Order: sequence, then C-alpha cells, then structure tokens
Amino acid sequence: MQAEEYNRRGKQLVDYITQYLGSVRDRRVIPDVKPGYMKDLIPDCAPAEPEDWDHIWDDVEKVIMPGMVHWQSPHMHAYYPSLTSWPSMLGDMLADALNCVGFTWASSPACTELELNVMDWLCKALGLPSFFLHHHPDSRGGGILQSTVSESTLVALLAARKDKILQLRSELDQDVDESILNSRLVAYTSDQAHSSVEKAGLITLVKIRFLPTDEHLSLTGDTLKQAIGEDRRRGLVPFMVCATLGTTGVCAFDRLSELGSVCSEEALWLHVDAAYAGSAYFCPELRWSLDGIEYADSFVFNPSKWMMVHFDCTAFWVKDKYKLQQTFSVDPVYLRHENSQAATDFMHWQIPLSRRFRSLKLWFVMRSFGLKNLQAHIRHVRMAKLFESKIRSDPNFEVPADRHLGLVVFCLKELLRRLTRSGSMYLIPADLHSKRIIRFTVTSHPKIPPYPENYFFNPENVGFLATFKSSSLLIKYNVAICSCWALKCFL
Ligand SMILES: *Cc1c(COP(=O)(O)O)cnc(C)c1O
Repeated sequence: MQAEEYNRRGKQLVDYITQYLGSVRDRRVIPDVKPGYMKDLIPDCAPAEPEDWDHIWDDVEKVIMPGMVHWQSPHMHAYYPSLTSWPSMLGDMLADALNCVGFTWASSPACTELELNVMDWLCKALGLPSFFLHHHPDSRGGGILQSTVSESTLVALLAARKDKILQLRSELDQDVDESILNSRLVAYTSDQAHSSVEKAGLITLVKIRFLPTDEHLSLTGDTLKQAIGEDRRRGLVPFMVCATLGTTGVCAFDRLSELGSVCSEEALWLHVDAAYAGSAYFCPELRWSLDGIEYADSFVFNPSKWMMVHFDCTAFWVKDKYKLQQTFSVDPVYLRHENSQAATDFMHWQIPLSRRFRSLKLWFVMRSFGLKNLQAHIRHVRMAKLFESKIRSDPNFEVPADRHLGLVVFCLKELLRRLTRSGSMYLIPADLHSKRIIRFTVTSHPKIPPYPENYFFNPENVGFLATFKSSSLLIKYNVAICSCWALKCFL
C-alpha cells in the first residue's frame, strides 16, 4: 500500500466507522457463533503474495463482524461499560501514526510531558488529593497511564512489598533473604474485590486475605483491624490493603476512611481500586465515597470504562513516586540521558519498558467535551435510578443490594414464599454453590390423586409461574445491568 491509497482507504474507513457506530443499535448485540467458527472462514497460512485491499476489506463483514460483541451498542448491559468517543479515536489515530515509544523523557519529550500535565488535570477534575499531582510544591507523587487496573494493582503491590521488605531489612541485624521476608507478608482486600487482586497475590507469592463484608457489602475498619491483630499474633507482617470503590459485582464501596485510619495506625500501604466508579468523581455530588482518600498511597481507575477514552487507558496515581522508582529502577547505559535527573522517566513507574502515547486521546476527550459535558455524561445515572424504580415497583422482583451509580442488580423474589403461602404446594429450597434453587420432587405416594392435567396451565393456581417464565428471560444471562449510556455523542 502506498501513501495515496492509504489516504483514500483511510477516508473510506472513517466513513465506515461513522456509519457502523451510528447504526450499531440495530445489530444484535451478542454474536451467534461457536468456538472455532473462524477456522473455516480463513486460510490455514498467511498469503505468500500480497492481497489487494478490497479483498482484505471484504472479509471484515464476512469473518469479523459475525463474531463481534458490539460493546458500543446501547443494548450492551453486561459487565461494565467500555466506551469510546470520536475525539478519543482521533487521539489514537494520531498516536498510532507517531508511534513513539516513550519509555524515557528523552525518547519523546512530548509524550512524557503531555502525560504529566493531563494526569494533573484529571487529578484536579476528580477532586483527588494534591499529593498525587506532579506539579505541586509539596507533592512527592504523580500520575501515570498504565494499561489496565490489573497491572496497576500489581504495580502497587510490588511497590508496597518493596517498601516493607526494605523496612524489615533495616530493622533486622542479620542479612535475611528477601524471599523469606516475602513469605511473612500478608495483604488484605474484601471478599467482593476484583479477581485482579487475587492474581497479583498469585504472581508475587504474597498471601492475600479476603475479608468478609458487612450488610452493604463494604469492608469495614473493625474487620480489617481484627484480621491484622490475628495475623500479627501468628508472626505475619501485614503490609497492604486494597480497598474497592465500586466493586465489580454490585458496585459496593468499602469504608475508605475507616480502612485508611487503620492503615495509617498500622503502617500499611492503602491502594484504592475505583476502576469503574472513578469516572463518577467528576461530579462533586458523587464524591461521598472518596471520604478518606487522604490516606491513600495509590489510586487507580479506568477512563476506558465510563469516561469515553477507549481501551487501553488506566489512570494510576501514587503518593510517593520514589517508592515506585525504588521498585522498578534499572539503569542500563543505553537508556541514560543528560536530563535523567531533572526529567520523569516513566519506565521506572511500570513493568514494561515501552509505552504508547496514550495521553493524546485523554487530552482530546477532556478538551472536546469539557468537564461540563463529562459531568453531564456521568449524570445519566438517573437512567439507572429510573430502571431501579421500575424494578422496585414490580412485585416479582427484588433489589438485593443498594444501587450505586449506573449499576442495578436485581433478582426474582423468592417464589417459594408465594408457592407455600397458597398451601397448595410444598417445596423447599437448597443452595447449589452460590445459587438458591427450589426443589420440586415428583415422588408422592401414588394413592394420592395426581395433579390435574392442566395444573400448570391454570392461571388461578400458578399465575405467577407465567410471570416467572417471561421475567426469567430478563435474568437469563446476567443479573447485573449497568448503564452503558453508549456514546451520547453518537446516538
Ligand atoms: C473492571 C475492573 C477491574 C479490571 O480492570 P482491568 O483494567 O481490565 O484490569 C478491576 N477492578 C474493578 C473493581 C473493576 O470493576
């Protein structure tokens, strides 16, 4: 492909994208394909001869689209949203063309400097503490864009671990191997925390305790304090807490201020995972759950979820950047540069060396929407409120956990109570792993007259079963509905 063709095809692709996103609501949101569906649609080996673009492009509709989940569809209510937007896509288009690899300041000064500035913008716009700012007289901290929350949580754990191990070594007289110290460490999170916390523990061979939550599915300070006490008595060394603001399951919030004050008394690193909920903090009225954020050592959220900056884009802040750097610093000669002292080299803040120019799309989104429109976008949580009110007004459903932000969880009410209240049937429940089931046993004594043929079809007997049938469609796949207020700017 030559430049002229790229120019022409590129314009066509932009047309296609505009048309695709403009009509995505008309497509079925989940595909109807089986694992391996693509094997028969593409050749076994890459072509030896070049193919022309028309031929390649034809296969997008034939091979790719049939297997797509349309995440930008307004019918997408699974998981948490993963939104994009026009300015975000333009940002990556430019980043892809520049394709710089900004591991050090010198490897592309604009790449590092835009990130420093935009992370400060974002920090201020969310109402986060000033100790997370790069440009602030008293701050030792700063923000960086990482690839995912999972990776950021691992980074936080690695930094917290390094810090604690250095501290333990300085307290001990003899030289103890770091792996022995590692085996004494223990970190805490709630039983509602994201699986990435568990994964960080698996990778680092660090013990993680998943502590029970209260009736609001929040981790409390008392529970944490008790666990720390138990572990200290067992000779373990507590070193970190991962608190969640907006859990993946039901969008519950840990009691940050309680956890924070325990962490500060016990000298534990407090990491805060606000993957989804972080975007809500653009709106001052939604900041109640940030109470206690002044105790945080690190904070992470995904602009790639709700903020319309498409994947990958994870914003991660630390209070003390030197603790990150002491964890990750390697210093090969070929990466040194004359501004090493004065400049920020993000390679010391992350696991990989190379990094994309991700801040461009964040910059474009913040400027084109303005904080005002980002807030208006977040305030569509009123749609979730509306959905919740509909669910609550239907006697067939119940809402088993408080609604927060754009996530409503619901379930069918215990059918059992209504079944047994009528006196015409007796069934009992059981728990199958985490699922509550109703047991319907057809082993009555044969002398007792069987149910009339039409028993299940008589609305007077079991009217609610009909309701149950139609509502069960709603809960077939996922009881978690969240607001994927897909792209106000598209629709
Ligand atoms: C989505 C989510 C994650 C995972 O985010 P990745 O960026 O995919 O690693 C972590 N924690 C919570 C609470 C989430 O909702």
